[in-house]
Amino acid sequence: MKSLTNRILLGLVLGVVAGIVLTGLPASAVKTLNDWILGPVGDAFIRLIKLLVAPLVLTSLVVGTASLGDIRKVGRLGGQILGFYLATTALAVVLGLIIAGIFNPGLGLQLPTGTSFKAPPIPSVASVFLNMIPTNPFEALVKADMLQIIVFALLTGSAMTAIGDKARPVAAVFESFNDVLLRMIGMIMAVAPYGVFALIAKVVTQYGLGILLPLAKVIIAVVLAVVLHAIIVYASIVRIWGHMNPLKFFQGAAPAMSVAFSTCSSAATLPVTMDCSEKNLGVPGYIGSFTLPLGATINMDGTAIYQGISAIFVAQIFGVSLGLPQYLMIILTATVASIGAAGVPGAGLIMLSMVLASVGLPIEGIGLIAGIDRILDMFRTTINVTGDMACTVAVAALEGELKTAAGLTNAASAD
Ligand code: ASP
Repeated sequence: MKSLTNRILLGLVLGVVAGIVLTGLPASAVKTLNDWILGPVGDAFIRLIKLLVAPLVLTSLVVGTASLGDIRKVGRLGGQILGFYLATTALAVVLGLIIAGIFNPGLGLQLPTGTSFKAPPIPSVASVFLNMIPTNPFEALVKADMLQIIVFALLTGSAMTAIGDKARPVAAVFESFNDVLLRMIGMIMAVAPYGVFALIAKVVTQYGLGILLPLAKVIIAVVLAVVLHAIIVYASIVRIWGHMNPLKFFQGAAPAMSVAFSTCSSAATLPVTMDCSEKNLGVPGYIGSFTLPLGATINMDGTAIYQGISAIFVAQIFGVSLGLPQYLMIILTATVASIGAAGVPGAGLIMLSMVLASVGLPIEGIGLIAGIDRILDMFRTTINVTGDMACTVAVAALEGELKTAAGLTNAASAD
């Protein structure tokens, strides 16, 4: 198999197979393997791609904004991408609620007694927005706080445009640093198939049927909803706005989808997402470097779907009946909560507290889902990342900047 995409997918499939085979070994042997080989290899891969995130978002966004040359263009692009992100997220929650209404994931389940889960503090809506503004950009970089880095980079790029020639030396430094980082993505991606293999094999060995079966309906509902969202919403977006064959889109997006599936982090996947959208989907770098870091942070359709379904699940388990006002509230808060969730593993679970609290559901309900959250996270993160790419393709096409189908084929076969 020559292409990187195929090798990553092979790593994913072999990881599942290896995980299933390993579950046949004695528990102590599996633990040793996980502790000494699979865990460290997977973690090393995540660390490698994560190390690029903060500098890459900064340099690519500064270079991107500065090269737009016109602050109005930034505003237009920003408006368009936000429109797509918000609309798809709201659709995602609605879809999640519909599927939950069909599956009734919590009906007939016994409430487990004595869950030891501690409810996390509920973030306020205002703080979610206020926290986007850094008080110290270096601190934002150190913490890898993406929204804060985005705000700082946009301001820097815009100011560079405003002072024109005087910003040349700074622009040259950012451009050169950005090129170096892009090259590093290429180097790190060479080991992606091994990283993906190790991450998946370990997860499979850790989840037995015993944990999964009681909550099978929730898992099936989430998986079905995210798959439908991709097939209906994303395929339509890339077809209608991007004039792109949806199959080509999913093929081009596959490496980022596989890395998202195995790492459960949109933020860690970001360098791969940017790489895929430029090389495989024909999105110019300056657009992707603006829309994708933003998307990795605020656009989480999979998380929104999961929160809608989880809210219904908790309501059913605790025997709370919900009316139209509560459903509307769930749509609103799940959208905001998915925006506020960081692109890291398990963030959606924490933000679920906001959704549950908004309609008076017991926050302890989160404890019921926590045990299987990793599995759900794999699916929702994959859809989160795919959504960023689908909306980015649409916006690039609206700008008249998406490379043609011929360009796509060339780029895709080059990897
Ligand atoms: N893990 C998800 C992501 O990084 C966020 C979540 O937990 O829903 O996209």
